[in-house]
Amino acid sequence: MKTDTLVLGAGIVGTSIALHLAKRGQKVTLIDRKAPGEETSYGNAGLVEAASLYPVAFPRSLRALIEVALKRNPAANYHWSALPGLAPWLYAYWKASAPDRILDYARIMQKLLSHSVAEHDALAAESGAAHYFREGGWLKLYRTEAGLANERTEFPLAREYGLTARELTIDEALALEPSLRPIFHGAVLWSDPHSVSSPGGVTKAYAARFEALGGRIVQADARALAPVPGGWKAVTAGPHGGETAENAVVALGPWSSDLLRPLGIRLPLAVKRGYHMHYAVPPGGGLTRPVLDEEGGYVVTPMEAGIRLTTGVEFARRDAPKTPVLLDWTEKIARELLPLGARVDPEPWIGYRPAFPDMLPVIGPARTRKGLWLAIGHQHLGFTLGPVTGRLMAEMMTGEAPFTDPAPFSVARFG
Ligand SMILES: Cc1cc2nc3c(=O)[nH]c(=O)nc-3n(C[C@H](O)[C@H](O)[C@H](O)COP(=O)(O)OP(=O)(O)OC[C@H]3O[C@@H](n4cnc5c(N)ncnc54)[C@H](O)[C@@H]3O)c2cc1C
Repeated sequence: MKTDTLVLGAGIVGTSIALHLAKRGQKVTLIDRKAPGEETSYGNAGLVEAASLYPVAFPRSLRALIEVALKRNPAANYHWSALPGLAPWLYAYWKASAPDRILDYARIMQKLLSHSVAEHDALAAESGAAHYFREGGWLKLYRTEAGLANERTEFPLAREYGLTARELTIDEALALEPSLRPIFHGAVLWSDPHSVSSPGGVTKAYAARFEALGGRIVQADARALAPVPGGWKAVTAGPHGGETAENAVVALGPWSSDLLRPLGIRLPLAVKRGYHMHYAVPPGGGLTRPVLDEEGGYVVTPMEAGIRLTTGVEFARRDAPKTPVLLDWTEKIARELLPLGARVDPEPWIGYRPAFPDMLPVIGPARTRKGLWLAIGHQHLGFTLGPVTGRLMAEMMTGEAPFTDPAPFSVARFG
């Protein structure tokens, strides 16, 4: 059977693209060396954001910068050995984090974020995955007045975008999450985001729906992507040596450059590493929604496997050995805030947020190569943005009018 499109990478991004193409009648093969949703799309904090107006930006104040440099901020770590290679990327990230550029970022990303919950809901309903989703938003806790005051600066923009952020008293926050200890200064409830109890489960459910619509999943390591007459071949280690189709979509998340570089496509893609651990829920404990401890530098989310603590960012080479210092550090801080049982996982999980320095994803055609499409670099928001990316990409690939102007997400911005 003729295949229209190969989608490489069955994380939330690739799986959502494959599903959206299948819904539009395309013959699609989804290729991953693992089963769907077992890498970054498995281990995240499970937030389907609608309200992350500002990005996780490079620190701009001298004080914040010094704290990170001296490794005194529990939200960030780095490997000295990675800094020389990362320097150009970090400089571009610093520039993109200037206040005026942050406002541009917010305006552009709102075009996607304002659809993220509805697009997940639609795929979840048809995939039988609705039971993983919960409403109730997420709670951000602040240990200092300065932190809370900084959060308040987002409120006018939130109102402009029709989002609901409500400052809570400590008692109001405890009424929502009774297992928290009142050691924080203030709280803000963002009610529009949703969250899930198993991001990996959601991705697998979308993949199963894709198969039910006639999509094909091939578990194979894609060693290369090669242009062939009339299309593209994913060279794999499997029995047939590969899969061919007219179009290929690279949605390999943090591994995308491995296949693009040999094609001469060099993108400023870095990884922001992060860790997680599950903890047993002690009797009378537990949470009903994700909670961010802003100055503590971590998020805790109720998941199927227990309470999942996810860390901030570690700048390091992608394949460098794990150094879960942020996890050990934030676990101590988190235990002050809420009761956590024993560690559940045998070792910390590590994931790699695929990130461009301007913090925007690339969604669209690879300009110089006909039939090659890219969906990469969703950084801290990839779980949120998978379905909306799938829709935008499928609309572009099938010639439908895209629901939003895809120009800001074009790879052309990197020259
Ligand atoms: C600690 C942490 C917390 C996060 N929290 C959130 C959150 O709450 N909300 C949110 O929206 N986002 C969150 N994110 C970000 C989000 O998880 C990612 O942006 C998203 O999962 C990226 O999805 P992806 O499909 O691009 O990549 P992935 O899920 O990594 O998928 C890429 C796939 O490519 C496959 N692959 C790689 N190389 C090959 C090859 N050669 N051949 C075949 N297959 C290959 C891999 O096996 C993998 O399945 C978090 C990330 C981290 C690390």
